[in-house]
Formats: sequence, C-alpha cells, structure tokens
Amino acid sequence: MRNSPKPKIALISLGCPKNLVDSEVMLGLLDQAGYPIVEDVTDADIAILNTCAFIEPAQEEAIEALLDLAEIKSAGDLRAVICAGCLPQRYGRELADEFPEIAVFVQVGAEPRIVEAVQAASAGRHTFFESSTGYALTCDLPRWRSAPQWLSYLRIAEGCDHRCTFCTVPAIRGTHLSREPQDILKEYEQMVGEGLREIIVIAQDTTAYGHDLAPRKSLADLLRVLAPVAFDGWVRLMYTHPGGVDEDLLNAMADLPAMVPYLDLPLQHASSRILRAMGRPGDAEEYLHLLETTRRIMPDLAIRTTFIVGFPGETDEDFQLLLDFAAEARFDRLSAFAYSPEAGTVAAEMPDQVELREALDRMEALMRCQEGVSLQKNTALVGKRMRVLVERKAPERELWFARSYRDAPEVDCEVKVETTTDGCQPGIGSFCEVEITGAEIHDLNARLLGT
Ligand code: SF4
Repeated sequence: MRNSPKPKIALISLGCPKNLVDSEVMLGLLDQAGYPIVEDVTDADIAILNTCAFIEPAQEEAIEALLDLAEIKSAGDLRAVICAGCLPQRYGRELADEFPEIAVFVQVGAEPRIVEAVQAASAGRHTFFESSTGYALTCDLPRWRSAPQWLSYLRIAEGCDHRCTFCTVPAIRGTHLSREPQDILKEYEQMVGEGLREIIVIAQDTTAYGHDLAPRKSLADLLRVLAPVAFDGWVRLMYTHPGGVDEDLLNAMADLPAMVPYLDLPLQHASSRILRAMGRPGDAEEYLHLLETTRRIMPDLAIRTTFIVGFPGETDEDFQLLLDFAAEARFDRLSAFAYSPEAGTVAAEMPDQVELREALDRMEALMRCQEGVSLQKNTALVGKRMRVLVERKAPERELWFARSYRDAPEVDCEVKVETTTDGCQPGIGSFCEVEITGAEIHDLNARLLGT
C-alpha cells in the first residue's frame, strides 16, 4: 500500500474562466504532490468535476456530467469522483445527500485542500470540504496550464459586492476580495516569462479592483504597476462594470503598451426603469456618453457588451429603447440572453414575468439588429492590415483560424487566414500579419502577409 503508485487524476472544468483558474490551481497542487495528471477520464483513477451553478442550464450541465461520472465509477472504470466548485457551494451538503455515489465535495475557496480531498477519495472516505472565507488566489499557488498554451487568465479578485437582482454570483462566490498588486505583478511576470502570447485580466467585476485594499487602489493603479513589464503579447481586460469605467482607467489602458484596445462592458439593458429593477446604474444617455468617452481616448477600441431581454416588467417600449440604443451605440461584439428566473434571486419573485417565447423573440430581434452593425464594422476593415493570433488549422485545407484584438477567446469571432502561394505558413499559438480581404456578418477573411 505505502509504495502503491499515486492515482491518475483527470479534471473536467465547467463554467467561466474564473472557474478555470480554480481548476488549474487544483491540478497544479496535485501535480506538485506527485499525482499523474491525465487528459481523459477513461485513463484516470479519480475524476474531479469543477462545476458551475450560476444559472439553471449550467446546473443541468453539471448534474448530467456528475451522473455520467457516477456511471463510469459504478462500471468500475473510476475509483472515485470528486465534485468541486459552484454546485456544492450553492447547494451545500444537500448535494451530498442527493449523490451518495460521489465521494468528496469541495466548495469554492477550499480548492487549496484538493490533495487532502484526493487522499480522502482514494481511501473511500466520504468527505465535504467546506469553503473558507477569505481565500484568495496568490502567485505562490502552482497552476497547471490547461487553456491553450499560448493564453492564460490573470484573476485579480474574487467575489462581487454588487447586488444585481437577477444574479446568484455574490451568493455563490462571496464578497469582493482583491489580491495585492505586488502579488499580481509577480504572477504577471511569471506569465510573461513563460512566453504566453495573451494574458486576460478577469474577476467578477475587474473595475472593483482595489476598493477593499488599504490604502484603497483602483484597476488603473494596477495597470500602471504592470505597464513597465516588457511584453510583446496581448493583455485583454474582461468583465468591467459601467459604474467603474472612467477616464483614469481608459488612460491607464491606453498607457499599457501590451493592452489591446478591447473593452468587455456588460450593460445588461438601456432602459433606466429596467436597469433600476435590475439593481444596476445608468441609462441609455449615460451609456452613450460613456461610449463616446471611451472611443475618444481609445479610437480603435472594440467594445463587447451583454444584454438581458425579457426581464420582469420589460414592456415593448423598454425593448424598443434597447433596440434603438444598440443601433446607435454600434457595439463590435454583442451577446443577448433571454432572462431566466434563478431561485433565491430578488428578480425571480418580481411580478410581470415575461413569457419565455416573448423573451426569445426579443433576443432574436436584438441579434438581427447587431448583425447589421457587425457586418458594417467588418466591411470597414477590408483592405486593412492586422496582427492576429493563430489558434488552429482547418483539416485538409490551407486555412488557419485566428483572433484579432477585437476577439476574446470563446465568446467572440474569428479571422480566417489563407496563405499565399509562397508556402509561408503561420504557427499555431503565434502572431502573424494579415490583410483583411473580406467581411462576413461576424468573421473576417484575410490573407497572410508575414509571420
Ligand atoms: S456585477 Fe456581475 S457578478 Fe456581480 S452581481 Fe452583477 S451580474 Fe452578478
């Protein structure tokens, strides 16, 4: 027993990039403790499922994956299954009662105890690792790089202090907790030193960074700490909040050489009446002014936003206001979601819930409006030269798929790169220069100019 080889571990990471960082920390700690990490569950002895639970479809996906793993275990192909992340955080020990075949549960914030969790699972001990408040990622925690090898996520804070009435995240991930700037700088330098091509700055609300630190800091302060580090790759800022985007931040973004002119700015709606019901600031006029300011300071800025349609009480007038706003604001990237009531949220108890069919029709109408804007913006880029990050190659064709600075991974669009006749080929995970040759509604076509 004492010298028996350590069990092979496979981890499935569901949900958002913030969850992916927790998964990488868990794998990093297990790798450091000598556990072999395998890609595929079929090659593993113990499977870890890191779950998401912020909306119903995500919970359904997690539960389905848990049931699949439990089936593989009962077929004797796995020694144990560990369930981590937002699902055990949201449902606590109730989940353990529901899934007796799952040996170990690890709540949010208990990830640093993953080696103990695997030891318990190996010994067949049913154990529930409760979350520890105040856990914050630090640069000393090892990370097993799982995202494509050329990019990684720099998580600068945990939790959220906002109280958007439709959102379960604060109840699951806790209050906002910023990391110390020097700790983030160390991790950023490590990432640059590893040769990464893209570093993506994330948190629930990146613009709330530093508000809880003494002395109080801001995201702009943090970017100024990172700016002196020489980096010829891309830094991308995600998950900002309209209440936190100001001229100081925009100037700090413009002054960080590696920062791409890209801003992820979820606005959720434009009708002041609906925004108040959502527990969010602003309105169409204020947001148009904010967009004008952002484009004045960063003229090439690509702006991504997210809207929720069908929120309780949303009338045709509210929706028309949102449509008109989206047409005038001309976002580069826009995602729309039909509102879904989440148990435990204020909005789920609100009167005047909108029929799902109605909400879906509105979502489609908004995306049709965006298609027109997106095609016009793409068409304006034809003939331009761009630096793109190549990520994959089409099988059997001299066609590569890349992203421009206007495209965040997983959520945005692609640039399809054709090579020229001289046989020059771009490398996967590297930058190359292209000329835009054609525009589609969402994607761009391009020809390779140089690698
Ligand atoms: S800011 Fe984002 S994470 Fe925070 S409560 Fe609002 S929607 Fe949820």
